[in-house]
Amino acid sequence: MPRPSSRISGIVPSGKDGWEVHSAAWARKEAGEDIIMLSVGDHDFDTPSETIEACVTAVRGSHHHYTPLPGLPRLRKAMAAASSACTGVETTPNQVIATPGGQAALYASVQAVLDQGDHAIVVAPYYATYPNTFSAAGASFTVVETPAEDGFQPRADMIRAALRPNTRAILINTPNNPTGAVYSPERLEQLAEICREHDLWLLSDEVYWTLGGGEHVSPRSLPGMAERTLVINSMSKSHGMTGWRMGWLTGPEEMITLLTNLNLVTTYGLPAFISIACAEALENRYGVKEIAERYAARRTVFLDAVSGMNDVTVRGSEGGMYVMLDISDIEPDDEKFAFAFLDRENVGVMPGSSFGEAAAGHIRISLCQPEPVLQEAALRLRRFVSSYR
Ligand code: PLP
Repeated sequence: MPRPSSRISGIVPSGKDGWEVHSAAWARKEAGEDIIMLSVGDHDFDTPSETIEACVTAVRGSHHHYTPLPGLPRLRKAMAAASSACTGVETTPNQVIATPGGQAALYASVQAVLDQGDHAIVVAPYYATYPNTFSAAGASFTVVETPAEDGFQPRADMIRAALRPNTRAILINTPNNPTGAVYSPERLEQLAEICREHDLWLLSDEVYWTLGGGEHVSPRSLPGMAERTLVINSMSKSHGMTGWRMGWLTGPEEMITLLTNLNLVTTYGLPAFISIACAEALENRYGVKEIAERYAARRTVFLDAVSGMNDVTVRGSEGGMYVMLDISDIEPDDEKFAFAFLDRENVGVMPGSSFGEAAAGHIRISLCQPEPVLQEAALRLRRFVSSYR
């Protein structure tokens, strides 16, 4: 075939070794072995039945046609209301645009604020797709770690040290995947100060905002930030809808108008019946409370089950769908630890180093399993740790 573009060739799917542990666990499970999979980030339950019914009704109706580029008016209205709740800033439908999932919102946000050759700061540990999302825009980025001892909270001095004359944006994620850290209002204000001072965009990935435990604080609500923040949102986690592919971006109306032009050349609108089901799910918050309660209960059960375990320290783990355990006192090589845990105890977890340097020496536990399974996994971890070496 003729040569592909360097843009497309430059997108290299994760490639990090840690995913090999996940792949090995998955292969053994597929082969019929009894493996506890705590490496995936997808729910173990179906979408709420009310949402499914709404979709069936819409598809049986005449909702089979093109939809407006920024989203159906009813959907944008529902998304604006959800954004008002998420960000604490009154949001109008003209300040949101629907995208096929949170990842597409991330992609659109990066395309919207960075030119080829521009520079961004990515706060780590981060969601695995972030680096490729910047590469796809031809932008460079610097990864700024959040120290594990600091509960994976962002540090203003470290971010300032990474600024360059061509830095245009900072990308953060709270509640965080993989650490479960929920960035404190103080740290967010320090980040906001940097953005205001250096006229930067803040790309704020808040797809786990309903799973944060306490009250969610969005940096969009901080002084002077609504005009320079793009919030990435999604129905995948909050509404149990990973396979439906529905997300949205919230930002200044002028930017949303520009993003509508991007949809002209990418999505050309979203599926009509999915949009209607999503609007209804957002309006009625189908499943939101139950899903949040389910993850909170799972987190408590798992953290209780590992508490007091020798040489294992919980870091972050305040919200989202994950728990992060520091196992570096037992084995500094987290990948070796994860492989050995899989081999000996049939439990698949992610090595922290797959998510950046600061998470090295950790393992990420996904809470996407029922409580008894998590308890069993904790039991096996206890046994594994006590017999390690
Ligand atoms: N952002 C973060 C932090 C994530 O963890 C994920 C998915 O796991 C996404 C964005 C993308 O979510 P989706 O494209 O399913 O909406």
